[in-house]
Amino acid sequence: MAGAGSSRREFLRWLAAGGTGMALAGTLPGTAAADTGEIVVITHVTLIDGTGSAPRHDVSVVLAGDRIAWVGGSGQVPETGGARVIDGRGKYLIPGLWDMHTHGADLEEIVPPLHLAHGVTGVREMWGYAENRATKGKIERGELLGPRVVMASGIVDGPVTLLGPPVLQASTEAEARAVVRAEKAAGAEFVKTYSYLGPDVVRAVADEARVQGLRFSGHWPYKLSHLQASDLGQHSFEHFFGVSIHCSSRRDEILARLKVTPYDPAAPRAFFDLARRLEFDSVTTYDPGMALAYFGRLRRNGTWHSPTLTINRIVTQPAETHRHDPRLKYVPADVRESWAMGIERFAPKTPADIARQERYYRETLRLVGVAHEAGVGLIGGTDCLNPYTFPGSGLHEELAFLVEAGLSPVRALKTVTGDAAKFLGRERTSGTIAVGKEADLVLLDANPAADIRNVAKIDTVITRGRVLDRTERRRMLDAAEAAANRPVATSARVRSLARRGCCC
Ligand SMILES: [Zn+2]
Repeated sequence: MAGAGSSRREFLRWLAAGGTGMALAGTLPGTAAADTGEIVVITHVTLIDGTGSAPRHDVSVVLAGDRIAWVGGSGQVPETGGARVIDGRGKYLIPGLWDMHTHGADLEEIVPPLHLAHGVTGVREMWGYAENRATKGKIERGELLGPRVVMASGIVDGPVTLLGPPVLQASTEAEARAVVRAEKAAGAEFVKTYSYLGPDVVRAVADEARVQGLRFSGHWPYKLSHLQASDLGQHSFEHFFGVSIHCSSRRDEILARLKVTPYDPAAPRAFFDLARRLEFDSVTTYDPGMALAYFGRLRRNGTWHSPTLTINRIVTQPAETHRHDPRLKYVPADVRESWAMGIERFAPKTPADIARQERYYRETLRLVGVAHEAGVGLIGGTDCLNPYTFPGSGLHEELAFLVEAGLSPVRALKTVTGDAAKFLGRERTSGTIAVGKEADLVLLDANPAADIRNVAKIDTVITRGRVLDRTERRRMLDAAEAAANRPVATSARVRSLARRGCCC
């Protein structure tokens, strides 16, 4: 029998030759990486590959360094020559998850490890600022273990805003263009737009973003309809704000009222509260024809919905609902206090209000199903670090809500894997389990296709080819808990976000 060294070489030769034909020679991440990077083989596993395809049984997946090198039937893998072998019998392999709406990566000892320990290997960070850009840099240089980060610009809003510093305010087209250029120079990968931007300013942001080769995503800009914003190229709408209005027979009357109502600098929340009331009430005037036309236009424009059901569920319930969540042990005291304060601004209080918001939330779930049926792209995100919205485990909740909305478990998984990568323009490298893709994977102890809650039953997470087994994940979680119980230098931005209460 050959020694491990020659056996490893033979195995690499077999891989480079394309194995039994399913791997594509030349798509390995350079022979150098395959020669020097760790070879990991996951054998006899049930594969759910992120494309929406049905689970495939008895598959083996070979990782070379930070890439997937081979995928095929377990019977076709030769002697692996000293590679690390993970027995996948009775287990389920899914792509690493993308939380497509996150905040607070700069809470470095807590947020990045919570994402990874729960299988979230990529995040779309929805408010870019100096501290979280620095965190992204550390992760990319290998100085900090964390998920891949796709970074937003700073949040761009109008002269009246619900947000505190460091919100970027633009009143004119010239200011809007300058902000887009400056944020691109600072590392923004897309522009994050907010609720109170004026219509001409949204148009200028859209145009300058296009010139700069960026997309823009964010809240419904209230002075335009969703249709107008979508026509301007808005890539995603966050939080499902305003969908019930756009599916209502009273749409035009409601939009006209919002258009003529001014933003009050002395009471900036008044407009938001009015819009919120109008969307709660719109559930009673649902019009299937309006919904069909609305969702059809978004689909044709390539505008996606990012319904962030996790935060939507939290803020439509009474404030005390989440006060004893055991995961609060991972949250520093000052953020916990901000959460307790922030939730009070949103949570329903009277029985009538509780019933009204419950009805709105149920209708939101139903409309997510209608959007899906109509072919509108959906991405899954939590809005974590808003009250009681936890990094990592929050995305498991989001998946369960998407299934409740009518997606099959396999289809829900696709929204946070293959579809997320497609939305980000990363489908060649991320989101599915196929040769040449980044080695970001999650090995589960139970079948998520049978019950989506099994996505929380994690055996192993693999990030950039690095294996985080049970022991390592336990260590990460314990360290995050310990960090949360020390006085932590939470950034002013994280605190202001947590205090705001909902939906940034
Ligand atoms: Zn947010």
